[in-house]
Amino acid sequence: MTDCIFCKIINGEIPSYKIYEDDVVYAFLDISQATPGHTLVVPKKHVKDIFEYDEDLAAAVFARIPKIARAVKASNSEIIGMNILNNNGKAAYQSVFHSHIHLLPRYADDKFSM
Ligand code: ADP
Repeated sequence: MTDCIFCKIINGEIPSYKIYEDDVVYAFLDISQATPGHTLVVPKKHVKDIFEYDEDLAAAVFARIPKIARAVKASNSEIIGMNILNNNGKAAYQSVFHSHIHLLPRYADDKFSM
């Protein structure tokens, strides 16, 4: 999709801090770090939200989440937990309409609240 910011990140037209990439997903640091290490995992295929996934894409994308979550956790010994979030639709606070999964590392006494 030509006017999609996450498609442009995947294609390298907009810079990002890459965490992981394979044929199905691209993972990179969120520009607004809710907590240190806040990562977005996006399917390379442009789907707007969870309602546009078919079963094969959902299986492929979500199967990759534990591995990427472990890699983020392993990057910092102070990470003691992680929230995994996926917003769908404006009413659910989605602001970028290329589906993505937030990995939010949690730290002792961090002040993040949802
Ligand atoms: P929300 O903005 O309410 O978190 P989303 O779930 O749609 O809504 O999340 C979009 C995320 O994309 C935001 O956390 C935002 O900081 C992030 N973001 C927007 N532009 C960029 C960018 N160029 N690089 C990295 N992250 C980005």
